[in-house]
Amino acid sequence: MKQLLLATHNPDKTKEFQSMLRDLGVEVVTLDAFPSIGPIVEDADTLEGNALLKAAAVFESTGLPSLADDTGLEVHYLGGAPGLYSSRYAGEKVTYAENVAKLLKDLRGVPPRRRAARFRAVLTFLAPGQSPKTVEGICPGAIIESPRGHGGFGYDPVFVPSGETRTFAEMSGIDKNKISHRGQAVERMRPILREYYKT
Ligand code: IMP
Repeated sequence: MKQLLLATHNPDKTKEFQSMLRDLGVEVVTLDAFPSIGPIVEDADTLEGNALLKAAAVFESTGLPSLADDTGLEVHYLGGAPGLYSSRYAGEKVTYAENVAKLLKDLRGVPPRRRAARFRAVLTFLAPGQSPKTVEGICPGAIIESPRGHGGFGYDPVFVPSGETRTFAEMSGIDKNKISHRGQAVERMRPILREYYKT
């Protein structure tokens, strides 16, 4: 079976990609299958830069078609933070809960109408004989005052997408993927992947 290598060790992102890409008929593998590839330093100054850097690093090491995701939560009141630093907002090697706690602390006392936020996911696909293909998906919404729900990951328990009353963490994976930043980016990437894997 043909393979698609996800440039991540993150089991939560992997689960979403595996579910969304099931119909592609390719085996979706992750960096866990390639322990010789060490940590990739994500030091670009944009999500696009980091997605390209991750896809290029794993493609160059393995020669396999590679898909990288870089995602940020952009909170309007915080001038777009945590953005590029979403995974380490509360410090290096912190838990999702610690990042959420810092976000809620930074927004303490801010009224609901000023808590607008959006998730932005950037995906880059690199494969033999192909130029890099990059797409993005954006999901607007708002940050609530205390966490709700146990699904999803990261900032999902405090993010309510526009037009919804549930947080991402209160939705099924299928419902989240239908409207999420990553879901939208995957739909834009899908024709590119279909074309690549068609033969
Ligand atoms: P990165 O793309 O691996 O740098 O992810 C950045 C951080 O954003 C992750 O550590 C999560 O905390 C958060 N994040 C990424 N995607 C999602 C999502 O779909 N929901 C909630 N949080 C997310």
